[in-house]
Amino acid sequence: MRTVRERLRKVYGVPGWPPHERPLDELVLTVLSQSTNDRNRDAAFAGLRERFDGWAAVRDAPVEDVEAAIRPGGISQVKSRRIQQILRALDDDLDLGWLRDAPLEEARDFLCALPGVGRKTAACVLLFSYGRRDVPVDTHVGRVATRLGWLRPGAASPELHDEMVALTPPGAELELHVNLLRHGRRTCHARVPRCRECTLRRICPSARL
Ligand code: SF4
Repeated sequence: MRTVRERLRKVYGVPGWPPHERPLDELVLTVLSQSTNDRNRDAAFAGLRERFDGWAAVRDAPVEDVEAAIRPGGISQVKSRRIQQILRALDDDLDLGWLRDAPLEEARDFLCALPGVGRKTAACVLLFSYGRRDVPVDTHVGRVATRLGWLRPGAASPELHDEMVALTPPGAELELHVNLLRHGRRTCHARVPRCRECTLRRICPSARL
């Protein structure tokens, strides 16, 4: 773990993103990010913010209006319904500030009980909003960590997340998530990993040299 961290740091640096303290924004962003790239996700999010005056207005709007606002992000029919389901499940608790100090398990369980929210989304909300101890394991993070031998191939999302948190030194959650994700996007590709130019090739049990 220490060697991997050091080598990835040399390539990608250390992300300096302070917690943004906007958990509901993060929840909506993760819905919008499904099956699209960051640019389209951000365009859809900007569309929502421009069209509606706050999350209560999104919750109470006709679903067709929400769908029109997020259309640049793709599969807007599905996403608009999901966003409204989440907002309605929250009732009037559209602040979610209590997630900052609540016991971690309680905060995670609350988020995972929302419609369509799983461990990865909950981890994004907790880590990016409040710097809490969780590590989102998306497709890139999961692939790289599995190839490094850290995670069991084929493990389900709860196991992947529990293992990643157990492996991650306290305080390294954001750095590890971001740098494994960058490495998965840039070098450790799903179909043809670029092992010959990988900074981890000498310590990776899956290296194809
Ligand atoms: S050596 Fe290959 S499989 Fe291992 S992390 Fe690097 S690119 Fe991925």
